[in-house]
Amino acid sequence: MLSPEPVTATTAWRFDLALTHAWAIATDVRSGRIGGKRHCPVVFLELTDRAGRRGLGEASPSTQYRETPGTVEAFLRRIDPSRLSFDDLPGSRSYLESLPDPSMPARCAVDVALLDGAARAAGLPLHRFLGLGFPASGAVSSFTIGLDTPERMEAKAREAARFPVLKMKLGAPTDAANLAAVRRTLPGKPLRVDANAAWKTREEALERIRSLTGHGPIEFVEQPMPPDVPEADAIWLKERSPLPLVGDESYQDARDADRCARCFHGVNVKLVKTGGVTAAKEALEAARRLGLKTMLGCMIESSVLISAAAHLASLTDWLDLDGNVLIDNDPFQGVVNLDGRLTFDGAPAHLGLQTAPRAGLPPVPSPVH
Ligand SMILES: [Mg+2]
Repeated sequence: MLSPEPVTATTAWRFDLALTHAWAIATDVRSGRIGGKRHCPVVFLELTDRAGRRGLGEASPSTQYRETPGTVEAFLRRIDPSRLSFDDLPGSRSYLESLPDPSMPARCAVDVALLDGAARAAGLPLHRFLGLGFPASGAVSSFTIGLDTPERMEAKAREAARFPVLKMKLGAPTDAANLAAVRRTLPGKPLRVDANAAWKTREEALERIRSLTGHGPIEFVEQPMPPDVPEADAIWLKERSPLPLVGDESYQDARDADRCARCFHGVNVKLVKTGGVTAAKEALEAARRLGLKTMLGCMIESSVLISAAAHLASLTDWLDLDGNVLIDNDPFQGVVNLDGRLTFDGAPAHLGLQTAPRAGLPPVPSPVH
């Protein structure tokens, strides 16, 4: 067999994703950033090897996990590109994991770029390269409404009426009024709610969860309490909760599966938490082996990461891949979101991530190495 062709060039560039609506979650309310943010900086990455083959990745660093474009770029600068190869994914991954001070969003960008290049070289879309299928009728994703005033939550719900499932952020003093406003607008709409660790004690969490029932369908409650509460409290809540509980901040990757199986009914996997598609696939498979329901979520991201995640749809019970429809300057196109149904029919490319730059918004690369 020919020896693996090494990556010879690493190009990374920042891009500010512009949010259609100001975005806030419970952690913003707690820190006083009630108005929410308007922009979300991401870092795109392109790997090129000597044969001219390319792979595209993206890092969406979240301050929630103490990551910034700076931490991503610092990690990317430490990479020796010649230790990466589209022909040797296990070797490339071992090398990445050997580097100190990992930035998970940066590792995610590299993993996604390697898989994009490898799948394209193999002449396959990413899901088939991974040995997975993709639902023929598409995969349903929720659409998220960030925290806001009840009036603006009502207006956002009206705008989002075409989506089959909505996810609502909770954790504000106005939660009850916010939920009532959304219910008034869309009475029978299935909702998912995400407290982002807002409720501090098991008693408070149980009371809040009970207050959510009886007003229309709610599929589950995401991360009711902080991830560092005693395990006994999380188990106490799981035993009593009238709604399924899904761990997000509590589930970084497959290593957390056993603990989460005791504390939750399901887990939310994200590429930027696990460090890419490879580890996200492992995290989904580990959770399923333990009988957990699986969800695939996202940050505010372009179509690069949303498409990468969508290739794992067949391993999930619930999808929450809406980061690219919450922005209005996505520089890429990929998986198509048809009123909440994700499909690769109509994607701009057939291989790898199935993404392509969007005309009119060209990214401007600047070399890292
Ligand atoms: Mg969440």
